[in-house]
Amino acid sequence: MKPEFWSITETVKHVITGEITAQQIVDGALDRITFLDREVGAFLEVDKDGARKQAAEIDRKRAAGEPLGSLVGVPVALKDNLVTKDLVTTAGSKILEGWVPPYDATVVTKLRAAGAIIVGKTNLDEFGMGSSTERSAYKQTKNPWDPSRVPGGSSGGSAAAVSAGMCVASLGTDTGGSIRQPAAFCGIVGLKPTYGRVSRWGAVAFASSLDQIGPLTRTVADAAAVLQVIAGHDPRDATSLEAPVPSYVDALTGKVEGLRIGIPHEFFAAADESAGPEEEGLGFTPNPGPEEEGLGFTPNPGIEPEVRAAIERTIAALTERGAITVDISLPHTALALPAYYIVAPAEASSNLSRYDGVRYGKRVDASELLELYRRTRGAGFGPEVKRRIMLGTYALRSGYYDAYYKKAQQIRTLIKRDFDRAFRFCDVVLTPTTPGVAFQFGAKTSPLDMYLGDVFTLSCNLAGLPGINVPCGVTTGGLPIGVQLLGKPLDEPTLLRTAGVIESAVGLGTRRPSGAGGI
Ligand code: GLN
Repeated sequence: MKPEFWSITETVKHVITGEITAQQIVDGALDRITFLDREVGAFLEVDKDGARKQAAEIDRKRAAGEPLGSLVGVPVALKDNLVTKDLVTTAGSKILEGWVPPYDATVVTKLRAAGAIIVGKTNLDEFGMGSSTERSAYKQTKNPWDPSRVPGGSSGGSAAAVSAGMCVASLGTDTGGSIRQPAAFCGIVGLKPTYGRVSRWGAVAFASSLDQIGPLTRTVADAAAVLQVIAGHDPRDATSLEAPVPSYVDALTGKVEGLRIGIPHEFFAAADESAGPEEEGLGFTPNPGPEEEGLGFTPNPGIEPEVRAAIERTIAALTERGAITVDISLPHTALALPAYYIVAPAEASSNLSRYDGVRYGKRVDASELLELYRRTRGAGFGPEVKRRIMLGTYALRSGYYDAYYKKAQQIRTLIKRDFDRAFRFCDVVLTPTTPGVAFQFGAKTSPLDMYLGDVFTLSCNLAGLPGINVPCGVTTGGLPIGVQLLGKPLDEPTLLRTAGVIESAVGLGTRRPSGAGGI
């Protein structure tokens, strides 16, 4: 096995036993970044000096017999909307070009304390607004499986870096799918924890009631290991939960006997049109045996056939191992997309008002203040960000608040209730992560086209639930396919356990991308 594709467990074991030094691991990762990233474009900033310093400190500690953390020597990349002390943080926007934060985000402090080595900052759609990383103000990131295709987004750089073996793990943020969708497109695991499970202190805010930080890794066990470190209450984030952190690593029992897996027919019935709340279940039999043909979902042009087939194989693999499928209904699913695209821009328009050219980031001078704001924001924000600000301010306008924002929040409550009800009948909900696989650069020409691709990932954020993408196959064209699991609030252990079984039953095994940069 190549060291560049070591898991966290392998890396930590080798560092602890002294078979390899942290310095050697970091040099290997940095060499690989130098070699591959010209082509892939996952990184906005590589912190060679900082990484080497951290590695030297770890090797010193080991030699001195000092305690080593659970991520010791593990090269980690951070989405560039997580602030890092003394290391440029741009959020993919020109308005923050060259901004050097004076502090580390809580997750970064925790990673460092556990011995992880921060190798750099990864590319993203500006402020996390996008699904392909094409909306970065800086560069294009290519999908390591096929350089003519996007890595997904907005955490596209974080996903590409892990997938190509340039680091062992990375962190992303997920407001409406930005961890799970790029993980699906790049053939890796991506976990969005329950809202409040991980502190958002030091994450550049997009939509504060939806944003959550989480890991992108090559294995489920690695996702558990990273979550173990970053989860927990933080007095500096008023929305972070006080609930104790269970052992995620121990949750991976490899067993799913008796586990009830909810299959929401609305997700399969219509990707882009309403499966109205009045619609009856589609009548597929609970717990179909592996011999049974399909699951009786109505044909859905919204889900690519190879994605649908891989999801059906995944369900069959779980039932073969003793899980039980349950037909569930999430009647307001079709409303998630319109509700999200009101709530998220509304919160974004407020969060982004801080970039005024006075307090931080870019400034375009003018003789009077309003003109300074206008010029700075005009030059500093890209078109998608401006579109979101316009959408958000429109929705929040006096006289329109009830018609848009309030209505969207009411829908959000209905979506949450749908899940509460569904979780009385099942332990975990299973859906495709995305309707299709990674698409070509420039393929989604209208903003709405791009938004429609988020149809399966948005309700998780609106309801504040944990969600995970697990690779579950590869198309005949060689592109990875992902399955999404959604769990009860704080039930990351069940998600990880189920994901672990999927990984060993239908995962990619040792299959690696071979598209970009001669990986
Ligand atoms: N693609 C969605 C959007 O553009 C979600 C992005 C995210 O999760 N940060 O808003």
